[in-house]
Amino acid sequence: MSLAVLCLKKRDNELEQVALELLSKAKKFYDGEIIALLPATNSSDEASNIEKLSKTGVNKIFLLKNDKFEKYSTLYYKTGILQALEKIKPDIFLIGATVNGRDLAPRIASALGAGLTADCTDLSLNDDGKLAATRPTFGGSLMATILSRTTPQMATVRPRVFKVAEPDLNNKPVIEELQINIDSIEDKVSELDFVQKTFEDASIEDAQIIVAAGKGAAAPETIELVKKFAQKIGGKFAVSRSLVDLGLFKNDIQVGQTGKTVTPQIYIACGISGAIQHIEGMKNSETIIAINSDKEAPIFKIADYGIVGDLNEVLPKLIEG
Ligand code: FAD
Repeated sequence: MSLAVLCLKKRDNELEQVALELLSKAKKFYDGEIIALLPATNSSDEASNIEKLSKTGVNKIFLLKNDKFEKYSTLYYKTGILQALEKIKPDIFLIGATVNGRDLAPRIASALGAGLTADCTDLSLNDDGKLAATRPTFGGSLMATILSRTTPQMATVRPRVFKVAEPDLNNKPVIEELQINIDSIEDKVSELDFVQKTFEDASIEDAQIIVAAGKGAAAPETIELVKKFAQKIGGKFAVSRSLVDLGLFKNDIQVGQTGKTVTPQIYIACGISGAIQHIEGMKNSETIIAINSDKEAPIFKIADYGIVGDLNEVLPKLIEG
């Protein structure tokens, strides 16, 4: 019995954090062999990535080697990873639902004729040892737990849904190199340019400090205060769905079940009541601070610190201070 996690990397060759999150989660619910698949070139230095993977408690790391893995390509990655799966034959295959992960997973599933549960928010095993993958459905109003009958059972999981476990410093996984043969194929897609995101246009998912406004901040002058406060403390501005539904903001800065999942170090909820669908998207933030005029607001149940008060009085003091 084995479970494999595809460990994709960023441009700077650093692992996508979601790979570590998936391996940490796998360790909690899976008793069989846990395998990391790490694409690499013949000359890339993978020492730091291997060290990070080892600390998750993974049993085996396959280095999938080919120089065409230098940067992400749908064709090379799909073909190469299919080759690796043919040899490794995992029972379960997990991929992070990053931009590249979402591109790759359905193509691999389709090539294998396997079922794929996309964008999961929880994973477990059922009584028969099969993967039970849970994801929101019907616009987030229901959670569906899905079992695929095909092997490997595949799922993609949103980043930041699971936490990276405490490092297991004694773990010594088996490390095996697997030469991937994709030399005869040529990708017709070529990259013309690459533009790095700046702090300004980085998404709320990457932010370490988020100041989020809810319906209690819907008045234009209150919104301005929330934005000013966010700017002052170097945070990103985000919103609850209420403000999106009011047509004030687009949902790319909405936090919650049908918005983004965020895990900043500090999340400051301004005039947000704390509905379950909102909490789903920010509950794993390190420190949660709530400002709300209603001391009974449910957000205070999950907040580490709370200020009961009117935003229009509290925020100017915080901005001045
Ligand atoms: P409210 O619930 O109206 O709360 C406003 C709060 O502001 C209140 O607690 C009030 O006391 C406080 N307040 C008012 N005035 C002031 C003031 N002057 N100073 C301080 N505090 C003040 N919601 C999301 O956020 N994200 C989602 O992804 C999401 N997905 C959903 C999916 C589905 C299928 C459904 C059914 C709902 C979803 N929702 C989502 C909506 C969610 O159920 C709530 O309706 C929403 O989160 C409420 O937003 P809110 O807290 O901003 O507004």
